[in-house]
Amino acid sequence: MTSGSKTAVPPPDMLLPGATLGVLGGGQLGRMFALAARVMGYRVVVLDPDPHSPAGQVADVHLRAAYTDAVALMRMAELCQAVTTEFENVPARSLEILARRTRVAPSPHVVELAQDRLHEKACAGEFGCETAPYVNVEDAGDLVHAWARLAGPGLLKTRRLGYDGKGQVRVVDLDTLVEAHAALGHVPCLLEGLVPIEREFSVVLARNAQGEIAFFPLAENLHRNGILDMSIVPARLPEAVAAEARQMARRIAAGLHYVGVLAVEFFLLTDGRIVFNEMAPRPHNSGHYTLDACVTDQFEQQVRALCGLPLGDTRLLTPVVMVNLLGEVWTQGPRWEALLRHPGVKLHLYGKAEARPGRKMGHYNCLAPSLEAALDLALETRRALGIG
Ligand code: AMP
Repeated sequence: MTSGSKTAVPPPDMLLPGATLGVLGGGQLGRMFALAARVMGYRVVVLDPDPHSPAGQVADVHLRAAYTDAVALMRMAELCQAVTTEFENVPARSLEILARRTRVAPSPHVVELAQDRLHEKACAGEFGCETAPYVNVEDAGDLVHAWARLAGPGLLKTRRLGYDGKGQVRVVDLDTLVEAHAALGHVPCLLEGLVPIEREFSVVLARNAQGEIAFFPLAENLHRNGILDMSIVPARLPEAVAAEARQMARRIAAGLHYVGVLAVEFFLLTDGRIVFNEMAPRPHNSGHYTLDACVTDQFEQQVRALCGLPLGDTRLLTPVVMVNLLGEVWTQGPRWEALLRHPGVKLHLYGKAEARPGRKMGHYNCLAPSLEAALDLALETRRALGIG
């Protein structure tokens, strides 16, 4: 290539197919990241202690070790030109060890921030996002003061390690608050005021190191027992609400110099206010619809952001409803034929051997020419699978 050639020379920080990418965590998010990366010609290393992990099954290399295993982390750094994480509760220290030796995105600092609800909410507030009222409960000594501050029904949520509605208890008075704190093991918590929710939705975006941001279409999320049940896209939200939520998410991503896919969950309240709930520094369950319904899916986008590539087109190709498949569906043996006889259904299973109630085993996307038809398809297929 001559020096005057217009052919783009990849900048040194652009990792091209052929490079090796690492992912901490071998669950379904790691699996779908690994699959996307391999489709694009990257090699993939997964670090996860479980010999049967969903991502380990599809990786080029599976390092079976604890996330804190220094030897395994060194090996990962040696093998990988870049590393990401599939869950936010990976020890930040492990990411720091990796970051001293190879590219890591999102940064250990941001992952650590998202591990603690207090820091996460304070950060959202700093970037101008409204949150539900909350009071920190560092220990049992804070309970009386916290109840006096909130003085209304609320949710006591553990600051760390809560997910899918776990680690939170509804409280209505000081007695139930004290009981809830004991039930949660006296760990540091947030006491959060209950807010009147009209709709729940999420903004999934990606930002690369060059500062480019791409938004996926917003997903309207329906939960059951605190676990995501269905995502509906396009979300049934006024455009002004969607635009404001995108702006909030943009301020967070840009303010944190975030690199990678970021999911921000919001509540639209009955009075029209938009409230930040939480964020996940990774691809998100509410972004699984992108696998079949967008030009670029959230896992390819994670590869692109991690590798410093231009971000992919996030255009929605078709209305879609994503339905989560939890372990309950396996109690009677899933009737896949009732699902797969529909040409608009796309099934994704995560390769988990053991189905337990509440465990995310897979999901499917219902694609149809209209949102009504996609919803009808979702409801019909749910019934066929025995999902209430
Ligand atoms: P979270 O683990 O914070 O995402 O909460 C799980 C679910 O509980 C949310 O999806 C909401 O449906 C509900 N929830 C959480 N926080 C509040 C709140 N402050 N007020 C009312 N409902 C809430």
